[in-house]
Order: sequence, then C-alpha cells, then structure tokens
Amino acid sequence: MIDLHTHTTVSDGTDTPTQLVNKALAQGLETLAITDHDAIAGWSSAIQTLRGDLKLVLGAEISCLTAEGISVHMLGLLFDGANSALLEALENTRDERLPRMRKMIELMQADGIDISISDVEAAMPVGATMGRPHLADALVTKKVIKTRDEGFLELLNNDSKYYVAHLAPTPVDAIKLIRAAGGVAVIAHPFASMRGQILQSSDFVDLKAAGLNGIEVNHRDQNNEERLSLLSIASDLDLVMTGSSDYHGTGKLNSLGENVTDPAEWERLEAMADARRVVTA
Ligand code: AMP
Ligand code: ZN
Ligand code: FE
Ligand code: FE
Repeated sequence: MIDLHTHTTVSDGTDTPTQLVNKALAQGLETLAITDHDAIAGWSSAIQTLRGDLKLVLGAEISCLTAEGISVHMLGLLFDGANSALLEALENTRDERLPRMRKMIELMQADGIDISISDVEAAMPVGATMGRPHLADALVTKKVIKTRDEGFLELLNNDSKYYVAHLAPTPVDAIKLIRAAGGVAVIAHPFASMRGQILQSSDFVDLKAAGLNGIEVNHRDQNNEERLSLLSIASDLDLVMTGSSDYHGTGKLNSLGENVTDPAEWERLEAMADARRVVTA
C-alpha cells in the first residue's frame, strides 16, 4: 500500500511523526509520505523511526490561494528540504496563519462566542502549523461545539461568516517552488466541493504548464462523479493519478491507507523528481 498524504502533530494531525511511522509499519504499508501543512519539521523524527522495508517520502502540503480567492492545497513530494526559496515560502505562510487566526477569533468574539487566541494556542502542540482544526479543538474545550467535525459543518467551513483566508502562494507559484527544489507537485483533493469553492476543469491547463505532475483523484472528500472528472483531466493532460488517506490521527475519520496510489503511478511520479529521495532504513 502506498499512501502519499498524511498529517502529524507538526500541523493538525494528532499522531507525532514517530507514531505515524510506527502505525504505517504496524499496518504493513509499503510507502508512506509525511505531508504536514506548510511544514517539514516532522521529517527528522520520521526518518529516525524508520525500520524494516517501509519507504518514507518526505513532503509537505502547501496552502495556496488563487487570484480569485479559491483555497487550493498542493502536495510537494521528494523536494530538497534545504531549498531556501521553498523553506522561506513555507515560513511566510506559517507566519500569516497567526493574524488570520486572530481575525477569525475577533469575528467570533463580536458574536459573543467565548474564545481567545490563548485558547487556540493551548489546544495545539508548540511550533505546529496553526490551523482551523486547532480552533475547533479550542471550541470543543470551551464546550461551544462537541467535535472537530461539528465545527467544520458550520462555524469553521470555508463558507462561514467567520472564515478568513490567510495569505499564501498561488498554485502556480507553489508548483514552481516545488519543481525548482527538485520535487514533484500533486494537487490535493482539487474537486472536494464539500469544502467550498473549487477550481474549474480549464484551470488544470495552466497548472500543467507550470509543471504540475499529478492529481489526487482518490480521496474521501471527492465523490465518484468528481473522481471521474479528475480521471479524465489527468488522462487528457498526462498527469499522474494518486490516491491517499489524508490521515490526521484522531482529528478526522480518515484511516491510514484508506485510499492508496497504484504502484505504477507512483513509479511514474517518483521518476519525475530530480533525485530518488525516498528514504529507507
Ligand atoms: P486551515 O489550513 O487552517 O485553513 O484548515 C484546513 C484544515 O482543516 C485542513 O487540514 C483540513 O484537513 C481540515 N479540515 C477540513 N474539514 C475538516 C473536518 N470536517 N474535520 C476536521 N478537519 C477538517
Ligand atoms: Zn489538515
Ligand atoms: Fe488538504
Ligand atoms: Fe491534508
């Protein structure tokens, strides 16, 4: 099994990188990618935990914003973790997440919701990429909502009056940064319409021209119709098709390996990176 998209406590997952790798080993996964939001701080402990035959793909899920304000997630895999342009872009996005969270909290406070930035900070591991799931956890502690999922149904979703976007690179810029760092770029859950406004089919032509390598087709937030549309875009533009769990530990229902990538597709994708950077024990 090849699972190319997972999160840890370095962003909004609930397993540490060590726990994630141990879980992949216990489940007998062949290949696991660690892709925290806008961060690579989990790479080193994931590498240290590696044993047996498990192959580790180092990556990140880069938050992007189109000129039209549509939120897009770009998976960067197999890139050089010492590339300064990419590291700087990730750091900028992490920095932008604090004022963004403050704005969301101000909107909630104005409506009488009992929540503060220190509640959010108390709900997240030190140094993690701050995100809405941490705000959800803080709201659970404050008994405003019962679960993360309940939070995302209304208060926290992209169409909510409390939603604020944070500054981020455009998808084209993110692809260019990933490719310039020697990695491969796979657009994550592009047709997950339940999350909010999504790209148009025609947008993929520009992404391909910028260097996009693949499309995440099999993902729990995309229904059959959405997956079929993505399949046809991928075959028209000769893009690799992936599937993955987007595992977040107990932070989401997604279980590790619930969607996987075909070995032949992974082979194609890996060959597009400028070096074979899969880590083995
Ligand atoms: P942010 O990066 O702060 O905009 O928050 C987006 C994160 O929220 C992504 O990692 C999503 O995986 C997560 N998310 C979206 N919907 C849900 C949900 N229903 N339950 C838990 N997390 C969610
Ligand atoms: Zn997440
Ligand atoms: Fe995502
Ligand atoms: Fe994700």
